[in-house]
Amino acid sequence: MTVREILSIGHPLLRTPALEVAPEEIASERVQGIVDDLIDTMRHADGAGLAANQIGETCRIVVLEVNGNPRYPYKPSIPLTVAINPQLEVRGDETVVVNEGCLSAPLRGEVERFVNVGVSYYERDGTHRCINARGLTAGTWQHECDHLDGTLFVDRADLSTLSTWEEFERHHRDAFIERISRFVAESNR
Ligand code: ZN
Repeated sequence: MTVREILSIGHPLLRTPALEVAPEEIASERVQGIVDDLIDTMRHADGAGLAANQIGETCRIVVLEVNGNPRYPYKPSIPLTVAINPQLEVRGDETVVVNEGCLSAPLRGEVERFVNVGVSYYERDGTHRCINARGLTAGTWQHECDHLDGTLFVDRADLSTLSTWEEFERHHRDAFIERISRFVAESNR
């Protein structure tokens, strides 16, 4: 397992749609190595998720994990999840505005995300799974799956809300955390 370099906005591979992993390739050393590196790199950077494009691998693999994350203290926990060829299906039209960050961009900004999504994917052992994700966790899935299509959160953000992390902390953090904590508590998500 290796902590890999995380590509920054402007790198062409972040804009390159990733290719599906053939099911018979999931067990290969190459794919399993990418999964290990994604987990290591995400944890090292305190990310809530990481997509393969972000370490320069254009295959459709994302990892997610939230467990008392210092970057996003308001996010409900997500157990370590490895998703190969994730397919996202929006359920309903309810949305929430989330202030997001990304390990590939030194900014935060507000993005409107769907509150309920279904996701189907392969686990690293080849098991096929279908899950429902709600609330901020649904937003995290949308952010990570966007990466696989070469889309960054800034493409979807209200540009007038873009902020450095420092200015977010100084001017916007408290109001956002208050609003989003209410959303998380009300909906238990
Ligand atoms: Zn990201």
